[in-house]
Amino acid sequence: MAGILDLETFAHFFDTVHWMRSDGCVLLIDCWLSAAQNKFTQYIEKYSQLAIGEMMFTRIRPAICKRLSRLISQRLPIPTLWHMELTSFEECKKFLAAQSTRFAARRALELELQEQLSHSDVSMLPGYCWVCRGVRAFLYDHKYSNGSDVNWRERLVCPQCQLNNRLRLTAKILDHSVGTGNPRIYMTEQVTALAKHVSRLYASTIKSEYLGPDHSPGAINSRGIRHEDITALSFSDAAFDFVLSFDVLEHVPAYKVALKEFARVLKPGGKVLMTVPFILLHESNVVRAIFDGEKGEIHHLLPPELHGDPIDPSAGVLCYYHFGWELLNDFYSNGFSNVALHIYWSLEFGHIGHEQIVIEATK
Ligand SMILES: [Zn+2]
Repeated sequence: MAGILDLETFAHFFDTVHWMRSDGCVLLIDCWLSAAQNKFTQYIEKYSQLAIGEMMFTRIRPAICKRLSRLISQRLPIPTLWHMELTSFEECKKFLAAQSTRFAARRALELELQEQLSHSDVSMLPGYCWVCRGVRAFLYDHKYSNGSDVNWRERLVCPQCQLNNRLRLTAKILDHSVGTGNPRIYMTEQVTALAKHVSRLYASTIKSEYLGPDHSPGAINSRGIRHEDITALSFSDAAFDFVLSFDVLEHVPAYKVALKEFARVLKPGGKVLMTVPFILLHESNVVRAIFDGEKGEIHHLLPPELHGDPIDPSAGVLCYYHFGWELLNDFYSNGFSNVALHIYWSLEFGHIGHEQIVIEATK
């Protein structure tokens, strides 16, 4: 099969080759590799001067050249997003043991990249951004970390679309799982960059934030923000094809009630796509804090962990749980028939820092 590649922009070129690769057309890989060697360098040079400066370019160029020369010398296929679906703790343990060499190599590479921060406050990892469709230099530093380990999940920020590792991956999963058409979607966030991205893709998505106990479910405030409490949603039964909830459930003390609500508002066969802090090798959930509803008191079992609050960036929102496999049972006992963990890792697309996890639960 012969084809004409549009080389007008590097991003378009990269997209085209990716599309051909996924379509089974692998004959043009050599063509891509030789062309990309020039295009890649030119692009990064231009981009770097525009956005991150000569100094940063000098730092990232060796990494890019090394990766390209490895691809060329070993004639490796164009990278795809590494993915695995797991459905039980037992299966997960077996899988991690069988693949221990692969995982050890990933951890070593992540440490090597983290080491770069011993020379400067900020570093970059070149990779391809799904959201703004182009090669970018993803930024990482010690923000949101314990000061020594990089919080890879919340960093690797794309300089163009401003989405981090977790959010860029979520955008990719949505692309794959929700697809096209006009599905009925409820999303448990409204004022974030990801919510804006989802609105661009699916204009009729209903989005909300939690504005506090004195707001009525479904009410919209003067800033146009809809209030919902995910343990008592204002929607009718079977109203949606998808519920999208990303890093929200860990902030809800009565999270099982929220799962029951998600099942209620989904049509039969409808899906929840969810991310939460999840520990792959933990069978049970880690309870960090308990909320005593009667006394209105919070009891901390572990040091308080606050996550960013999109409604009030100066404050933080308390994390009650880091979940383990127990969460999948909670889905099953609250109205879901099929639950799986999807785990992802990719150097090329900037999804590193342990495997990134997305839960897919079908009613
Ligand atoms: Zn981007």
